[in-house]
Amino acid sequence: MAERSATAAPRADPEAELLRVGRALHEALPRPSRNPIEAVDRRAMELAAQDDRLRAALFRLVDVTPACRSLDDLAAHLASYLGEVERRPPPLETALRLSGSRAGRAALGAAAAAAVRHMAHRFIVGETPRGAMPTLRSLWVAGAAASVDLLGEATVTEAEADRYAERCADALDTLVEQSGRWPSRPVLERDSLGSLPRANLSVKVSALTPLLRPDAPELGRADAARRLRPLLRRARDAGAHVHIDMEAVDSLEATLSLVLELLDEEEFAEGPSAGLVLQAYLRESPRRLDQILEWAASSRRRPPLVVRLVKGAYWDHEVVEARQHGWPSPVFEVKAESDRNFEDLTRRLLDARPLLRVAIASHNLRSLSHAIAWNRVAGGRDEDLELQVLRGLGDHLMRALAAHGMRVRVYCPVGDLVAGMAYLVRRLLENTSNESFLYEQARGVPLEELLAPPG
Ligand SMILES: Cc1cc2nc3c(=O)[nH]c(=O)nc-3n(C[C@H](O)[C@H](O)[C@H](O)COP(=O)(O)OP(=O)(O)OC[C@H]3O[C@@H](n4cnc5c(N)ncnc54)[C@H](O)[C@@H]3O)c2cc1C
Repeated sequence: MAERSATAAPRADPEAELLRVGRALHEALPRPSRNPIEAVDRRAMELAAQDDRLRAALFRLVDVTPACRSLDDLAAHLASYLGEVERRPPPLETALRLSGSRAGRAALGAAAAAAVRHMAHRFIVGETPRGAMPTLRSLWVAGAAASVDLLGEATVTEAEADRYAERCADALDTLVEQSGRWPSRPVLERDSLGSLPRANLSVKVSALTPLLRPDAPELGRADAARRLRPLLRRARDAGAHVHIDMEAVDSLEATLSLVLELLDEEEFAEGPSAGLVLQAYLRESPRRLDQILEWAASSRRRPPLVVRLVKGAYWDHEVVEARQHGWPSPVFEVKAESDRNFEDLTRRLLDARPLLRVAIASHNLRSLSHAIAWNRVAGGRDEDLELQVLRGLGDHLMRALAAHGMRVRVYCPVGDLVAGMAYLVRRLLENTSNESFLYEQARGVPLEELLAPPG
């Protein structure tokens, strides 16, 4: 059983332990890849991070690719986007010249399509759950669990929402059936509170209902509930975990109350294992954690709620939306404030065990090391902390964490390229933001700076 660290006296200096953990994880990270495709990928991200117009051109290209009718069409789009970039690096100058002839456009279109596909495959593990199983199995064998996310966000019709719910049900069946054959991995299957399901599905409420609107949250909540309830039953009967993702802030109220109310229903008192997400970039997140803790303390449900702590993936959207309406921003506008709040919430979550299970999701070595170190100095066990990363962004970290015997879970999107565009653009935004930890790490900021307190 995890010790209630609220009452346990810290045994060591948390910052010293953090540095120790951070350095050890860093040691286990592979050196930059020699694979030429990865190198090109990295170079493109670096260039995009330095030039806003180039960044916009890259996103517009990714966005338009699935809709292009031919390679010629794709090349023409690429050329028009590049035409708007003022300072074009030499390879892009060559690309623009190529677009002047029919044969050149065919070559350029093929190269652009291959590059977008390559980028998408970095983040997406398969087109269907069955197609993803070999990758999920090899992750498991390598020491990492997974949570599968079926791509296809923001449903606009009832038929689409029904289809998404059906796909989720099928995915649960496939995951339970296939993961039952995997070899035993005790680190991934137990913590001190008991067993952890192998099958784990992440679900988006905006895909479960077309009626999710901030001005009428009860409408969307009721419509989503009638699709989520059968999924929870299925997961309970099959012993799977269902995790509800958090999206833009205008759906937060509906999502939180939907999950907490449904889980309190009598039929879910014994299961399934379920979880939700807390976004540290939200100014209101400490208050939301109070709400979750109050619920957990009063709920008669047996399996502890899993809370995945993230910083939040919709930062640009929230800032633009608030500016357009003249509203105060719901998110912090200084990166260090999100980072500090993430650490405060991490400590509060860890201290709240065994009321909750805690999953810390980040690619930031400081944020992850802080969670591991705090857990240890407060007397907790490694097995009572889960670390989570995204497929494609956190692959190296995943290996380093697994090598250190930590429980790590990889968030694995499944679906086709068209459905994956919104997801892909969010990941590119993150990858090319020059405030992102991964970008700082890639441009060689020294380890001591990377591990310094947010400030
Ligand atoms: C397993 C997993 C599951 C996830 N699920 C969700 C989910 O359900 N919902 C969701 O919203 N996100 C989710 N995310 C994404 C997550 O919210 C982050 O976008 C992503 O992990 C980047 O944060 P970081 O800690 O890895 O990197 P860092 O580089 O340390 O942080 C980047 C983050 O800091 C914040 N930020 C950037 N600039 C500023 C600024 N100027 N001021 C204030 N804050 C800023 C943003 O949140 C940005 O994403 C998930 C991530 C993982 C790993």
